[in-house]
Amino acid sequence: MDFSSITGQKEIVGRLKSSIKQNEVRHAYIFSGPKGIGKKTVAKAFAYMLLCSRPGEDGGCGKCLSCRLFTGNTNPDFYIIESRGTSIAVDDIRNMQNDIAVKPLYSNRKVYLIVDGEKMTVQAQNCLLKTLEEPPAYGVIILTTSNYNALLDTVCSRCTKYAFVKNTNEEVRQVLESKICKSGDELDFIIQYADGIIGTALDLALSDEFIPLREKTVDILLRLATEGQEKFFEICGFYMENKDSIDKVLDIMLLTYRDLVVSLAGGKENMLINSDKKNKIISMAEKFTLEKLLKNIEIVEFTRRSIKQNANFQLAIETMIIRLQED
Ligand SMILES: [Zn+2]
Repeated sequence: MDFSSITGQKEIVGRLKSSIKQNEVRHAYIFSGPKGIGKKTVAKAFAYMLLCSRPGEDGGCGKCLSCRLFTGNTNPDFYIIESRGTSIAVDDIRNMQNDIAVKPLYSNRKVYLIVDGEKMTVQAQNCLLKTLEEPPAYGVIILTTSNYNALLDTVCSRCTKYAFVKNTNEEVRQVLESKICKSGDELDFIIQYADGIIGTALDLALSDEFIPLREKTVDILLRLATEGQEKFFEICGFYMENKDSIDKVLDIMLLTYRDLVVSLAGGKENMLINSDKKNKIISMAEKFTLEKLLKNIEIVEFTRRSIKQNANFQLAIETMIIRLQED
C-alpha cells in the first residue's frame, strides 16, 4: 500500500513524498501514462500517505484510524470515481461534488481519485472544472489517464501533470519474480514483450493463454513462409479463432519478424526478443530475405491499422495472409 512497495517511478514518487513533507501538496494532479504503468497504484499510495495523521518516510503509519480504514477500503475521506460502462458521466462528477462539500471525517484532507479520466464526457469534464477552479482547502483530486489529449485544455491547465515513464526490464523482472513463479525462459519473453509496462507483464504472466498463443503464432508465421496456398483456409482459421486476441497475435508476429531481421542481419543472439527460441529463429531466418521480412512487417502493421479502423476483420486477415505468402 505505501510507496516502498512501488517498483520504479522513482522521480514521481520522490516528488510526491516531498510535497507532503514540505506541505506543498497541490489540489489537482494528472497522472498520465500507458495502461498498466502503475498510475492507480501510485495514486493510492499517495492518498494513503496524504490521509495519515502521522505519515512516515514511505507512506501512512498503518496504525492511525485513517490508515486502518484505508487499508480496509472503508476510509470515507478517500473517494474513487470509475466509469460504469464506457464513460464517466456528469452525474458521477456531481455526486463527487456533493461529497467534497462535506469536510473530512478523519483526516485533514479528502482525496478523490478519478480513474481513466479520459472517459469523462465533455459535460462531466466541464462540471469538474468548477471544483478545479475553486477546490476546498482540504480537497485533493487525482486524475489518471492513458490518453492525456482527450482531456479538455481547461482541465489540464488546472492540474499538475506527472508523466509516468516505462520501467526498465530489470524492474519488470523484479516485480514478476516477487509476485509469481514462472520458468525463466517464458519470463524472458514476457518481459521483452511487456516493453516496460508492469501491468502488461503481470497480466501476461498470470494468463494461461499467452504462452500457448505465442507458440501457435510463431508456428503459423513459419507455415506462412513454407506452405503453399492450399493451407490458406487452415491458416485463416487460426486468426478467426483468435479474433479476440488479435492485438497480441499481431504483436507477436511483429516481434518475431523483428527477431528474424536481427538474425539475418547477423545480430547477436542476446538481441533476440524470443531469446528462448533462438535456434528456431536462426533456422527460420534462412527461409526469408531481408527485403521480404521488412515487407512483412509493413503488411502486419497495415493490417493492425485496418482492424483498428474497423475494417472487415475477415477480409483484412485474408488479405494479410495472401500478401505474406507472396514471394
Ligand atoms: Zn496513519
